[in-house]
Amino acid sequence: TYLTYDEVIRHWAKHRPENIATEQDDRKLTYTDLLELTDRAVGYFQSAGVAKGDRIAWLGKNSDLYAILFAAAARMGVVMAPIGWRLAPPEIAYIVKDTGSKILFAGEEFAETARTVAYGIDPRPAVLSEGEAWKAVRTSDRAEFDAAGPDDGILQLYTSGTTGNPKGVVLTGRNLLGLRPFGIAEELPWAEYRPTDCVLVAMPIAHIGGTGLINISFASGVRALIQAEFTPEGVLDGIESGVTQMFIVPAALQMVIQHPKAATTDFSNLRYLMYGAAPIPLELLREAVKTMPTTGFLQAYGMTETTGTIASLPPDDHTLEGNKRMRSAGKAVPGTEIAILGPDGKEVPRGEIGEIAVRSPSNTSGYWKLPEATAATIDKDGWLHTGDAAYMDDDGYLYIQDRIKDMIISGGENVYPAEVESAIYGHPAIAEVAVIGIPSEKWGEEVKACVVAKPGMEVDPNDVIAWARERVAAFKAPKTVDVIPEMPRNPSGKILRRELRAPFWEGQE
Ligand code: ATP
Ligand code: MG
Repeated sequence: TYLTYDEVIRHWAKHRPENIATEQDDRKLTYTDLLELTDRAVGYFQSAGVAKGDRIAWLGKNSDLYAILFAAAARMGVVMAPIGWRLAPPEIAYIVKDTGSKILFAGEEFAETARTVAYGIDPRPAVLSEGEAWKAVRTSDRAEFDAAGPDDGILQLYTSGTTGNPKGVVLTGRNLLGLRPFGIAEELPWAEYRPTDCVLVAMPIAHIGGTGLINISFASGVRALIQAEFTPEGVLDGIESGVTQMFIVPAALQMVIQHPKAATTDFSNLRYLMYGAAPIPLELLREAVKTMPTTGFLQAYGMTETTGTIASLPPDDHTLEGNKRMRSAGKAVPGTEIAILGPDGKEVPRGEIGEIAVRSPSNTSGYWKLPEATAATIDKDGWLHTGDAAYMDDDGYLYIQDRIKDMIISGGENVYPAEVESAIYGHPAIAEVAVIGIPSEKWGEEVKACVVAKPGMEVDPNDVIAWARERVAAFKAPKTVDVIPEMPRNPSGKILRRELRAPFWEGQE
């Protein structure tokens, strides 16, 4: 049975009144507090002229106040748009304007930026700093309201902007709750949340890996341990203090397991660690599994447009010996359908590479104000075309190759950068690697690796090429290797291959 956000919040306030809903630093708020504070926030929204279908935005780090404002908005069908605080002011301005938000909430350190941004927008959104917003929430009176239905938008997240400009993705209550809280747990033991569980929210709330985890916590009536921003120490401390479930991107996972404190951290509280949002090098995954031997690892594959996870590789498939599945992103989660389509739009035979398409109650109904992009992504039968290349084996396991846009065609052969990156990653002198295609007279495109050396190490390009040739087919191995000082990444930790590619393609595309 489907519950609305309003019902979910009331449900836990009634059945788990003393359970902690959010914890940040020294502040703990119970589900009773969450009901009361969201009631008051709804009262505040109404007094500020914000109605169902309107938008509000948040510019700031992860915060319990954000979680309250999001839940209040979700109860009444106001759309919350969290904005990545690492973005530059013009990017922030673009998003605030795109949302048409009536209120822009801003963390204390971003209040000035928010005011400047708001000043340039007509009609100008009201700006409330965190302190002002807390006061408004605490002192407003409750008001009657018409609760949001399952198909009202409640969250607008912008895609990571890995392949181009970020796009606003509108998500509804059904998208956020449709596969949860009561759907998949019966079928997947690791999707079960116990009343004493604690979910770590360390990834940025502007992305599905952040707000999506607040959503899972609230949907499941458990504690969200909210950290303002990701730090490896914070994650390790959180785990020792009782975190039972978490999500983290591969780049962050690497920082956590390589942190000196990891060697002495007790990981036994952590039942499940979910990782995903970008390809993970096999060697990194193996190191992580060795570091946390008692933790169940789950790969998550998904996108903003699918409200996060649509396929998952379960803990049992993370054994270190003789395991071919460790490279898989897993199987479709119950309630979702996944198909691999050829260029003609028809399903390809198992084992053949094509584009991943998904049909799921968590699929977005579309991009905000981008009808053409929506039409190009979601077809009339409800299949959402992901732009990711993969094959599926006979058991339904998905093997993601890479984004179709990033595929390199070299001498007529298809090369997926992620496979080559994974092979190079194990090289002892290399900390980070990105593989791109550059123009080539001879091959059309040729493979280039851009690498960052480990501190104090020298990288010999010929040695990297030889290393790669031992591990992947010769046509996939890089022809050239550039050593770069730093890897360009976006705020979600994804490598921006387009930035590495740009100088080589100037005037060519
Ligand atoms: P944009 O759409 O703006 O270019 P983005 O696609 O990076 O940015 P997100 O929605 O955050 O924005 O990311 C979804 C994408 O991340 C997927 O389409 C896929 O390419 C990649 N991805 C997600 N999970 C995995 C995974 N487990 N393994 C490999 N790639 C993944
Ligand atoms: Mg995308």
